Amino acid sequence: MKITHFDPEHIRNIGLIAHIDAGKTTTTERILFASGITHKLGSVDDGTTVTDWMAQERERGITIVSAAVTTQWRDHQINIIDTPGHIDFTAEVQRALRILDGGVVIFDGVHGVESQSETVWRQADRFRVPRLCFINKLDRTGADYHTALESIHQRLRAPLAVLQLPLGEEGDFHGVVDLLQMRAVVWHDDARMQPETVEIPGDRRAEAEHALDTLHETIAGTDDTLLERYLSERAIAPAEWRSALRRATLDNRLYPVLFGAALRNIGVEPLLDAVIDLLPSPQDIGEIQGVNPVTGAPERRALTGDAPLAALVFKTVTDPYAGRMAYLRVYSGDLNSGATVLNATRECKQRVGRLVRVFADHRADIDRVPAGEIDAVLSMKQLYTGDTLCDPAHPLLLENIQFPHPVISLSVEAVENKDREEIIRVLTQFAEEDPTFTVTTDEDSGQTVLSGMGELHLEVLIDRLQREHAVAVRTGRPQVNYKTSIARPATHVEGRYVHQSGGHGQYGHVVLDLAPGEPGSGVRFTSRIRGGVIPEPFIPAVAKGVSQAAAAGVIGGLPVTDFEVTLVDGSSHHVDSSEQAFSNAGASAFREAFMLASPVLLEPICKLEVVTPEEYLGSVLGQLNARRCELEQTEQLPDGTATVRGLVPLSEMFGYATSLRSVTQGRALFTMEFDHFAPVPESVGQRLLNRWGIRTSARRA
Ligand code: GDP
Repeated sequence: MKITHFDPEHIRNIGLIAHIDAGKTTTTERILFASGITHKLGSVDDGTTVTDWMAQERERGITIVSAAVTTQWRDHQINIIDTPGHIDFTAEVQRALRILDGGVVIFDGVHGVESQSETVWRQADRFRVPRLCFINKLDRTGADYHTALESIHQRLRAPLAVLQLPLGEEGDFHGVVDLLQMRAVVWHDDARMQPETVEIPGDRRAEAEHALDTLHETIAGTDDTLLERYLSERAIAPAEWRSALRRATLDNRLYPVLFGAALRNIGVEPLLDAVIDLLPSPQDIGEIQGVNPVTGAPERRALTGDAPLAALVFKTVTDPYAGRMAYLRVYSGDLNSGATVLNATRECKQRVGRLVRVFADHRADIDRVPAGEIDAVLSMKQLYTGDTLCDPAHPLLLENIQFPHPVISLSVEAVENKDREEIIRVLTQFAEEDPTFTVTTDEDSGQTVLSGMGELHLEVLIDRLQREHAVAVRTGRPQVNYKTSIARPATHVEGRYVHQSGGHGQYGHVVLDLAPGEPGSGVRFTSRIRGGVIPEPFIPAVAKGVSQAAAAGVIGGLPVTDFEVTLVDGSSHHVDSSEQAFSNAGASAFREAFMLASPVLLEPICKLEVVTPEEYLGSVLGQLNARRCELEQTEQLPDGTATVRGLVPLSEMFGYATSLRSVTQGRALFTMEFDHFAPVPESVGQRLLNRWGIRTSARRA
């Protein structure tokens, strides 16, 4: 097959975003089918779809890893980035949202907006991703497009532009009216499932005209000139409406809505048309912001081939045949096979390996990846997820997304000793690709400890480890990662590190003020040293001593966070002072100040949402109350379900899935996402410290 490179205007980089089970995999599959690249239909139910390639994804029926796949439609190239649906995978979701230029949010025609679609919608808002809504599964019993639209309207408060009207209900759903064209498109239940354009059925004509008026008013509301022409009843061509709609969609002022039933292939071609007509090309995005790694200053790049190279690796996978494969998006310039580029993240020059384009059912070699494209590079060893490749003469760092620290840990050990090394190797590789996952060795017990964003996050990684690498592990019980902070200031605390043991001595002396910082502010250090009482070169050493001591923790090895340290005074010795001595003095002053500043224990707090049939609401609330949940909102919906939102300590949520299932007979769903660290209530804190055998007695009289 001949490989064509499209110019940026003819490329669409899109992601399909959805709550688990809304039909993302099926829709991706049907898009690939409809655009003629795959010739036989895969089915999620037999586990043969193209994007769900990992065995465990097949079993769970959810798509965890974002792979990218490319296809063509109407002389355009569409790159589909598969975004993970589960909220535990924050880093992956965020990275995927950053890579894509536009999104298709898939809703279940029976359930409407579900908790995860709302969360991901909000994340897409944060990145200002223009979106289309695809209301899927309209062929299912109980599907009702009015209710689905109402729920998008109510819960997402999104201004919608409804482009179609479904034809037939539930099992009889067979087509849509294309309002802008005022024609109907129907799908026949034959093997080819090609759409056919026909007249709008007579009994739906009036309804279609009414819906078209609403659509026109909606679009005209976003464009003053168009509004004026519309009000004075001058003729406006469908193409003009479409381009006004496109502008409003690109600006996040309108979200076009389409209908379908991907499983039966209904609505897929109009969705592809809408992707081309209404979602942005890299050219529409215009430019991207990064940071100059040398100066630290923000820098922009035009998303064109003429600008210097800047590319971001967003996914690395190990392929059984091709070896290491790194998926990347080239934002500007050209990435050429064999060229020498700068990896700005790892600060080293690298030679670009073999480049491939990934189609649904095959890969093709290419010699370059031009601006706007998403492709993969093979066998580059030191290339990891999140890395920026750029022109050595114009360095740029693209990824500076702040990822949250892991909040839950679990110990693992090899069932058979011979697997130990392989286990560590694989886990280290996972950690390189996922900034919200870490692997450490507990110094006391020698155990390997995994930390991540939630129980499911760790479960999935352990699963992958065991399946893909044929090793077996035993896991401990998950533990919450607590931190500590302080409740009040401690001033003028001294730290000395003075040793005189013949020859060269050691001399470091500092005086610190310690004060509580804003929640989430981490560690702040400033120096108010005047007159060189501590020579300039030793001041960073004091800061380092403080931050190392904070990371190592003062009570029970729990890291200290959210504080400000000010170096106010100290002294030095012209011969014996050294960086090490000042670092040690800083650490010891910090430890003492911490104990004087009313230490507090912090725990991770999560945002929780439970959706339950109304009759179980009482029991659900009772359970949450017992788990120290702070309720924010309880909402009863017209469909007989209730939604509960609140904040809950992660430590109280172990086993929640099971107990929720038991009180609601499995009919409730919940989602949970880490939100922030907050002080543990005194009674709980004391109990924990006692359990860990930790005493916190030091107080200055
Ligand atoms: P994902 O979790 O969002 O990727 O969803 P899947 O594509 O795996 O679909 C979940 C389930 O819904 C599967 O059993 C699909 O066969 C089914 N499904 C997907 N689309 C439709 C549809 O349009 N109509 C019906 N009736 N079922 C569908």
